[in-house]
Amino acid sequence: MTGFRALPSVDQVLLSPAGRALIDDHGRAAVTTALRARLDAARTAIKGGADGAVEAARLAGLLAADLAASAQSRLRPMLNLTGTVLHTNLGRAILADDAIAAASAAMAAPLALEFDLETGGRGQRDDHLRGLLCELTGAEDATIVNNNAAAVLIALNTFGQGRQAIVSRGELIEIGGAFRMPDIMARAGAHLVEVGTTNRTHPRDYQDAITPDTGLILKVHTSNYRIEGFTAEVAAPALSQIARKAGVVLLNDLGSGSLVDLGRWGLRREPTVAEAVAEGADLVTFSGDKLLGGPQAGFIVGRRDLIAQINKNPLKRALRLDKIRIAALEATLRLYRDPDRLAERLPVLRHLSRPQADIAAQAERLAPQVAALLPDYAVAATDCASQIGSGSLPTDTIPSAGLRITGAGGDAPDRLAARLRGLPRPVVGRIHDGALVLDLRTLDRDEDLLEALSA
Ligand SMILES: *Cc1c(COP(=O)(O)O)cnc(C)c1O
Repeated sequence: MTGFRALPSVDQVLLSPAGRALIDDHGRAAVTTALRARLDAARTAIKGGADGAVEAARLAGLLAADLAASAQSRLRPMLNLTGTVLHTNLGRAILADDAIAAASAAMAAPLALEFDLETGGRGQRDDHLRGLLCELTGAEDATIVNNNAAAVLIALNTFGQGRQAIVSRGELIEIGGAFRMPDIMARAGAHLVEVGTTNRTHPRDYQDAITPDTGLILKVHTSNYRIEGFTAEVAAPALSQIARKAGVVLLNDLGSGSLVDLGRWGLRREPTVAEAVAEGADLVTFSGDKLLGGPQAGFIVGRRDLIAQINKNPLKRALRLDKIRIAALEATLRLYRDPDRLAERLPVLRHLSRPQADIAAQAERLAPQVAALLPDYAVAATDCASQIGSGSLPTDTIPSAGLRITGAGGDAPDRLAARLRGLPRPVVGRIHDGALVLDLRTLDRDEDLLEALSA
């Protein structure tokens, strides 16, 4: 039979055993909406000359596939095998077990967020983190906002609104995602005063620029690029003296800002927050979800009188953190009290510090098993290079190992990459030199990859 009459009615489908099973899984409203869309498409196809009986026979299968696809969250867990450990587009830091447990508990029950359990009076949400941050950085005081971009914004606004903010031309960075220092300054109401040149800035450049209208000097850690060759910058201790003499605030935006010396785990050092504080910056800003390994957050640590002024800024209320992240941050910061066990407990550090030999052994072990799951492709263990990511030490790579997967045809790596992105647990690698490379640095368990690929 051809024509529309071959198609069932909406009610016929909904009352059929297959329809009822779909309603059990997805709910009546979703099934009805998806069914109407499929019936419309089938009518259009029949008008175009398609066989109505064929369209009717395809209906149930298509409907089930539509509903399964729309029931799948795009935020489902995936495997980041790109080699970039802190991948901004993949959510940056994976949290520690303690942080996940603390966040879950904070979601499920009331907690003393702004409540003093001793007195029964009002408390402050930042208090849960302030003590730990001061302990770990040596700063007098601390305040916490939505992310480091917000930390820079509120600090600039508090001390630079309607005033001048001095920055070296070598530090007028763009972080990505439209975070450009000159634009943030403008939004904060500060007048940007650029000093020095792209490659060289001297103490006198800052000194000459200071006027009675100067509100602050901003030093920015150029985390995502490096200027090499004939260069000069004014180090923080010297800048601190210039700022102090002039009575203006020195703000050091560290970006990643580690709380520990990464050299201990064989990684290149990033300046630590404690060092930046000790070097005399009045305020230091850094991220919660970069090297620190926690959820998205921005910290400002430094002089108590200045932190008090920031906390009075009405922007603070707009930029504050929610209880879930405060709970996760508190648990993450606590791990730093025991640096000996930090690499075991903090996934970011565990991944960054994995020895290449360990990853290479994993690659040798997995290559034949992955090859068996991808019959159309050749799979070989390979050396590769990981990156920290999120703008930390961008020119440094960490020796790593992984799987190099090749197939017939020039578009084989792209086709395979698309297939792996479509898995129930998507797998993302990177395409390099005509192959799809899966960097195994961030693969904690072999089974995770094997199970993902088997699906
Ligand atoms: C990453 C970074 C920022 C922005 O931090 P977010 O946590 O992404 O908001 C600001 N300044 C510097 C130097 C950075 O590296």
